[in-house]
Amino acid sequence: MCNLCRARSTPAWRKDSEGRYVCNACGLRLRQRERLRMGKHTAGSEEGGSL
Ligand SMILES: [Zn+2]
Repeated sequence: MCNLCRARSTPAWRKDSEGRYVCNACGLRLRQRERLRMGKHTAGSEEGGSL
């Protein structure tokens, strides 16, 4: 059972940062939250056109 939304059926089970089982949708949500926490700039893959 998902620890966040209590869903029993999901296309894919995932784990949160604490190792608890969450459904696919909740797993994706957690991922996006982590990305937002990390910040907008990610290793400068967007910029870098200055040789
Ligand atoms: Zn869920």
